[in-house]
Amino acid sequence: MTDQTKYVYDLSEGDVSLKNLLGGKGANLAEMNKIGVPVPDAFTVTTQACVAAMNNGGTWPQGLAEQIDAGLSRLEERTGKTLGSPDKPLLVSVRSGAVFSMPGMMDTILNLGISDDTVEAVAALAGNERFAWDCYRRFIQMYGEVVEGISPHVFEDALTAMKADRGAEQDTDLSAADLKELTRQFQELANRELGGDWTSDPKQQLLRAVNAVFASWLNPRAEVYRKSQGISRDLGTAVNVQEMVFGNRGETSATGVCFSRNPSTGVKELYGEFLTNAQGEDVVAGIRTPRPLAEMEGVLPEAFHELLATMDALELHNKDMQDMEFTIEDGKLYMLQTRNGKRTAAATVKTAVDMVDEGLITTDEALLRINPADLDALLHPGIDPDHTATPIVKGLPASPGAAVGALSFDADDAAERGGRGEQIILVRYETTPDDIHGVMVSQGVLTAHGGMTSHAAVVARGMGITCVAGAPGIKIDPLGKTVAIDGVVYGTGDVLTLNGSTGEVFAGALPLVPPSINEDFEKVGRWADAVRRLGVRANAENFEDASKARELGAEGIGLARTEHMFMAADRLPAVRKMILAENEDQRAAALAEILPMQQVDFEGIFTAMKGLPVTVRLLDPPLHEFLPNLVEQSVLVKELELTGADEARLAAERATLAQVKKLHEQNPMLGTRGCRLAMLYPSIPDMQARAIIRAALAVLEREGETVGVEIMIPLVAYESELKAQREIVVAAVEDEFAKAGKRLDYLVGTMIEIPRAALTADQIAREADFFSFGTNDLTQTGIGISRDDAEAGFLGAYVDTEVIEKNPFESLDVSGVGQLVALGVEKGRSTKPTLKTGVCGEHGGDPASIEFFNSVGLDYVSCSPFRVPVARLAAARSVL
Ligand code: PEP
Ligand code: MG
Repeated sequence: MTDQTKYVYDLSEGDVSLKNLLGGKGANLAEMNKIGVPVPDAFTVTTQACVAAMNNGGTWPQGLAEQIDAGLSRLEERTGKTLGSPDKPLLVSVRSGAVFSMPGMMDTILNLGISDDTVEAVAALAGNERFAWDCYRRFIQMYGEVVEGISPHVFEDALTAMKADRGAEQDTDLSAADLKELTRQFQELANRELGGDWTSDPKQQLLRAVNAVFASWLNPRAEVYRKSQGISRDLGTAVNVQEMVFGNRGETSATGVCFSRNPSTGVKELYGEFLTNAQGEDVVAGIRTPRPLAEMEGVLPEAFHELLATMDALELHNKDMQDMEFTIEDGKLYMLQTRNGKRTAAATVKTAVDMVDEGLITTDEALLRINPADLDALLHPGIDPDHTATPIVKGLPASPGAAVGALSFDADDAAERGGRGEQIILVRYETTPDDIHGVMVSQGVLTAHGGMTSHAAVVARGMGITCVAGAPGIKIDPLGKTVAIDGVVYGTGDVLTLNGSTGEVFAGALPLVPPSINEDFEKVGRWADAVRRLGVRANAENFEDASKARELGAEGIGLARTEHMFMAADRLPAVRKMILAENEDQRAAALAEILPMQQVDFEGIFTAMKGLPVTVRLLDPPLHEFLPNLVEQSVLVKELELTGADEARLAAERATLAQVKKLHEQNPMLGTRGCRLAMLYPSIPDMQARAIIRAALAVLEREGETVGVEIMIPLVAYESELKAQREIVVAAVEDEFAKAGKRLDYLVGTMIEIPRAALTADQIAREADFFSFGTNDLTQTGIGISRDDAEAGFLGAYVDTEVIEKNPFESLDVSGVGQLVALGVEKGRSTKPTLKTGVCGEHGGDPASIEFFNSVGLDYVSCSPFRVPVARLAAARSVL
C-alpha cells in the first residue's frame, strides 16, 4: 500500500490553522503570505514527517523524498530559479519550526544551493563577488557543522588564521579573493574530516539538511528546553525550505529582529535591532553587536517605514505582541518570521491590559493570556532603591529583576551547584542554547557580549531569569574561572548582584526589596475577581502578614497556625513549659503565660482583617518541632555532668531530658499532634478558645468592626474527637461571653487531613460548621509519605525518573489524594448541604490544584499571602 499522506505544503497551501502540522514558523509564514505581507517563497515539510521518521529509527516515511523533490520543483517554477543552476541558481534556507517556539534550540542551514557551479552566477546576479564567496564559505561552515557534524574549530581556526595573516580585525575586512581562498580551504578541510565523503550536489545536500533538522529535534539542548517548558517530545518539528533573501548584499541590504512592543516592559514603542550588510544569524547569535532599530530610519528610510506598517499589521492580525525577523535585500523588505513574542511577566501584564484598553482583546482573553506564574514573578524582589553602591559595570538590561549569587563560569557547574540550591550568577562570554541547563537554575546571567535579542536575553526573559548582557570591557577567563571587571578579579564563589532592569552589576550582595504592585496588576486582579467562583483566603499568623494578605486581595484568613506564633525564640520556652508540664498546675501556669501572647496576636489578625472571616486553628505542634532534640539534650546533660556544672542547672536539664524521653515518638508527624494533644490536655483548647474570644470582643469594642471568628480543630480522625473538642470550645466560649456580658457569632469546624476523616466526613459533618482540607497532611497520610523526609529522599528521584509526574506536596495528587477531597466534600454536604468547605494546605496556592478544587466545588482556597494574586487569577482561569 502506498503512503498517501501529504508531507509537503507549498507556502500558499497553509495558514495559521495548520500550526500543528506546519509548526509555528511555517504556519505564520503561510499566514503572512495570505494577508499580503512580503515573505520569500517557501515550502514546509510537516511535523508529521518528522514524527514518522523519529518513530521509525530515523528512516523516512515512504514518498517523503519524492514529495520534497516535487515541492522543490514547484518552488523552482514559481521563482524562475533552479537549485544548482549555473544561470539562475536558487538558494534556500532550511529551518526548523516546532509547534511551540524553541528559540535557537534546533538547527538551521542557510545558503543551500551555493556550489562551485553556482557561485559565479550568484556573484554576477548580485553584482558583488565578495558577497558570493562570503555566502559560500558560510554555507560550507554551517552545513559542515550542522549536517555533517564537523567540529566548529576546524573552520574557526582557518578563519582566524586567515584574518591574522591578512591583518584583518573583522570578518568584513576580508576581500573577495581572501574569501574565495577561505572557501577552498573550508572545502578541503571538510572533505578531509569526512574521509573524502563531502557531498557537493545541492539536491543531496537539501535532503540531508532536512534530515539534520529532524534529528536536531532530539538534540540534548532541545530536550532540556522541552522538559523545562513542558513541551511534548512527540510533537516533532516541521522544516521550512525557503528561498534565500540576502541582507548581506551591501549597504542597501540589512537584517534584523523587532518586536511590536517592548518585550521587557510591554510599552508600545520601537524595539529591535538591525545590522546592514549582514545575515540573520549575525544578529541572533550575538556575533556582531547590532544597532538600535530607530537608527534604520536614517539608513534605509523606505524599508523602515514599510517595516513599521508591517509590524502594526501583523500585531493587529494576530492580536498579540509580535516578535519578527526581517531582511532587506537591495532596499526591499521581506519578513522571515513572526510569532507571539516571549516577554517578561511585567510585559505580559502590561500588554494584556493595554490590549484590552485598545479594544484588541476581551478581559477574559487577557486573563487567559496571563499565566499565574507571571503574577508571581512580579512579586519577586528588586534591589533596594536606597542602596548607595556604585555599579562596577553596566551592560544591557536584558531581562529584568534582581539577582544575587555566587559566580559560576560554565553551565555544567552552574547546573550542578544551582541544583543543590546554591544561588548562582552564570558568567559567560556569550550564552548559547547549549548553556540552557545552567541558565535555568541560575538566579542571573551576565554576559560580555551580545544584544537584547540574543539567545541569552530571549531565553532568560522567557524564564524570568535576570540577565545583564553585553557588559562592556569585562574579561572572562573560563578556564581560570575568573572575570576581571574594571581591574578587579572575581572568581568562583565571589558574589555579585545584577539589576536586569537597568543592566547594572554590583560587587557583593545588595539588599533586595519586594516589588511594588502597579495599577495594571490591580486591574488584572479585579477582572479575575469578577469571574472567579472560588474564594481566596490567606494563611497568616500576625497583623503584618494578614495586612499584606488583605492588600493582595485575600478575603479572609483560612488558616492561622497558632503554634507558629511560638516559633520565635522568646516565646518557645512558654510552649515548651506547657508541653513538658508534669502536672496540671504546671500546665495551668504555662497556659496563663501563653494566653495573653495569643490574645495579642489574635487581636492583630482580627484588626487587620476588618470583619472578614478568620479561621484560627487550635494548637497542632508535632512534638519534635517544639521540644529539645532527644540526642542533643542527652549530650547536654552528659557535658554538664562531665564539666561539673552547678547542681540546680544539672537537675533542671535532667528533668527536661526525662520528660523528652517520656514524650519521645518515633513518628511524631503521626503522633500526639493536633486534637490528640488537646484530648489529653483539655486545658489547652480551653485556654485558646478563651484567648480567641477575648481578642474578638476587644476588637469589636475597640474598632467597632464585626469579627468573623472560626475556630478550627486539627487532625481529627473520629467524630467523637470533634464532638469532645467542640464541647470544650463551646463551654469556654460561652463562659467568656457570660463574663463579658457580650457575645458574637462564631463557627466551630475541623480540618480534614486524615484519610479516615475524609472517608467518614458524613459523620464528622454532624459536629462541624465547616471543613478545611489540610492537603499537606492528607498527602502525607493518603500516600503514606513523610512530609519531613520524602522530598530529600526518594521523591526527588521519582519525579526525575517520571515514576510520578509532579511532587505531590507541591501540586495535588488529583487522581489519588484528590479523591479524598472530593469524597470529603460530597459526604460532608450529604449531612449538611450548606457546609462551608475550603483548603489550607500548600496546594491552595498552586494553579493546577486550584483548578481541581474549583471542580469539586470547594468554597475557597487559602494560601500564603504572596500567592494570593496567583490564586485569584488561577481561580478565575479555572472557570474560563
Ligand atoms: C495541612 O496539613 O495541610 C495543613 C494546612 O496543616 P499543617 O501544614 O500545619 O499541618
Ligand atoms: Mg496539617
